[in-house]
Amino acid sequence: MTLLKLDNLHVALEDGTEIVKGVDLEVNLNEVHAIMGPNGSGKSTLSYAIMGHPAYEITEGRLFVDGEDITELGADERAQRGLFLAFQYPHAIPGVTVTSFLRSAINAVRKARNGGVDDPVSIPDFRKELLAQMDRLKVSRELASRYLNDGFSGGEKKRVEILQMAMLKPRIAVLDETDSGLDIDALRVVAGGVRELVGPEMGALVITHYKRILDHIQPDHVHVFVDGRIVKSGGAELADELEEHGYEEYGEAA
Ligand code: ADP
Ligand code: MG
Repeated sequence: MTLLKLDNLHVALEDGTEIVKGVDLEVNLNEVHAIMGPNGSGKSTLSYAIMGHPAYEITEGRLFVDGEDITELGADERAQRGLFLAFQYPHAIPGVTVTSFLRSAINAVRKARNGGVDDPVSIPDFRKELLAQMDRLKVSRELASRYLNDGFSGGEKKRVEILQMAMLKPRIAVLDETDSGLDIDALRVVAGGVRELVGPEMGALVITHYKRILDHIQPDHVHVFVDGRIVKSGGAELADELEEHGYEEYGEAA
């Protein structure tokens, strides 16, 4: 059974403009897929549509998780089935610590999985798991008691994001690495976290403009995405090819 399957997916903006124009893709447990494409090609639109963002409408095609058609499901129902999109938190929440943010996020998923009835994690269990994951991902304890994203560096934001992923234990992680401002420290955090967490219980889809991050992640499959379509698929070597020749041969100047 395929973990995540996109079958001829078309996505339009609220004004009806079609941005994603028929994408077929299968991601399985234990696999890292990378989607690489120039700015404006529709990568973020694709990731929002996978997560069920209401502003991005699937106009044609279907989306499946473990064979179940989730095309019509809302974002929380998708999360309940194990989908996770990075950047699911606001930029900064003064007064909310990383620890309390993570606990609320976990309790929200537990509630959804419990048929909408509150099922909060016990504080000792939560603390034990948090400390274990922080050690695993080499996140400093000091970070946990700080206010979420308040004055965080790019690398620290990424650490919290990866920590969130480790705590929520999604089955499919979609990471939309926006093209700006990822310093090398942040890149290493993301890449290390993805490699650490992908395995028999998780697969990942990493969406990026830059090859740099892929040098650290070493994806199993690379898909070239231009103008709303996957125009070529291959192994990690495809990223090197792109680095050298850019997207020109696919009709793009970027
Ligand atoms: P990428 O992530 O590959 O840079 P995007 O998916 O962000 O591409 O954008 C693709 C196109 O869709 C762009 O022309 C962008 O301006 C447009 N677009 C995306 N989201 C919105 C939105 N919410 N409102 C208006 N235009 C949007
Ligand atoms: Mg984008």
